[in-house]
Amino acid sequence: MLDRPIAKPQLDTWSPTLLDPPPSDIQSGLRDALHKFAAEVVRPTGRALDRMTPEEVIAPGSPFYAMHEQYRAFGISQAAMAELPPQEAALLQSMAYEELGWGDAGLAISIGVNGMPASVARVIGAPEFAERFPETKFGCWSITEPDHGSDMLDSTRQAFALDGQYGGPSCVARRSGDDIVLSGQKSAWVSNGVIAEQAVLFCAYDDGKAGFRGCVLYVPLDAKGVSRGKPLDKLGQRALPQGEMFFDNVKLPKDCLAADPDEYHDALYATLCLANSGMGSCFVGVARAAFEHALEYAHERKQGGVPIIQHQNVRARLFGMYRKVEAARALARRVAIHNATAPVPALQGAIASKITGTQTAFEVASEAVQIFGGAGVSREYPIEKLLRDARASMIEDGCNELLAIKGGSQLVRHERMN
Ligand SMILES: Cc1cc2nc3c(=O)[nH]c(=O)nc-3n(C[C@H](O)[C@H](O)[C@H](O)COP(=O)(O)OP(=O)(O)OC[C@H]3O[C@@H](n4cnc5c(N)ncnc54)[C@H](O)[C@@H]3O)c2cc1C
Repeated sequence: MLDRPIAKPQLDTWSPTLLDPPPSDIQSGLRDALHKFAAEVVRPTGRALDRMTPEEVIAPGSPFYAMHEQYRAFGISQAAMAELPPQEAALLQSMAYEELGWGDAGLAISIGVNGMPASVARVIGAPEFAERFPETKFGCWSITEPDHGSDMLDSTRQAFALDGQYGGPSCVARRSGDDIVLSGQKSAWVSNGVIAEQAVLFCAYDDGKAGFRGCVLYVPLDAKGVSRGKPLDKLGQRALPQGEMFFDNVKLPKDCLAADPDEYHDALYATLCLANSGMGSCFVGVARAAFEHALEYAHERKQGGVPIIQHQNVRARLFGMYRKVEAARALARRVAIHNATAPVPALQGAIASKITGTQTAFEVASEAVQIFGGAGVSREYPIEKLLRDARASMIEDGCNELLAIKGGSQLVRHERMN
């Protein structure tokens, strides 16, 4: 005989925390507040911006700015997170990205990249830049160039073709007396690029030595010689403004240099760990949104006289989606906590989180389209947008196939290669 009653299984309700351990007060407080904000502000704003032209998205008076103002009023700052134990801060950050991604992927990324100058400063061991370039301003991470997409994320050449050459950079910094002079351009893909007030910028450094030499610079974007291109028109994440940045002999004081060529590989490693891990959590939110919509619709839509969830194939499809969302979240949180607490973050873990989160978002959104049937491809319903948003994520922050090669390269034990 059992000395306690057998608990009645609750299989008819689903909540985002069903498989999580009970949250602490601070965790449930942050998650519930952000969920409300995501439902009431982020999601409707993202849907409205998705229908606008890129120019309208960034025009004065656009709801894009009102959303950011409301988010700032929450006071969820990295400085506040830094006061918490790293494990708790990482879990909260992961929960926050998931809720924001659940609301709208493009706006979640826009909020995330505002914090990139400060968060990169912390992970590359240059915290003074976090004070000088705070997340309260519009920020960006500027690395991709017209001639260098994937290869900018692969400074250690783990994924280069055997006969591959880097070629010439599109954007170069060089020392001139007490200044650093920046010339060239960054590609149209820089998130927040057209509205950012400050950039953490990764580019080539010309110190007269052979081969690619990189550096990390902090650039106030009101500096003389900085200009921007047109905002980019694109398939998904349309609420996220992106566009080219041009640098015409921009003079910066030498104390804008945060990592020199000798520190560049480590700085890029730490930044990719940070960015890919954030992407993993954010796109779990997109996957969850698609799953929830599909679950709801499957109870509403009747075919053959029954709600379609009565059809066994629909149930099996929904279960596959549920399983993927839970697995992706478990990985995203595990990686976030590991990388915040380990002496050296695991790039292979961050890449696994990014690929799993974005691939899951795409697959679950695609399954959701199928459950919605014809309504799934109609712009009247939210599903087609989720599919478009998720599709872009498999390229964003590194194409998944390039990242997989880098992740695999992390697993090689070089001492066994002789
Ligand atoms: C929504 C979105 C947001 C973004 N945000 C930012 C941002 O904030 N800041 C920023 O700087 N950039 C940003 N990017 C740019 C993004 O990081 C690049 O698009 C990405 O690194 C790929 O570069 P690319 O587009 O030039 O593609 P390419 O590098 O030209 O790749 C084209 C194809 O070739 C494949 N390929 C290339 N090299 C290899 C290789 N070595 N091995 C195997 N396959 C390879 C790729 O996998 C891909 O399929 C963003 C992109 C998107 C879509």
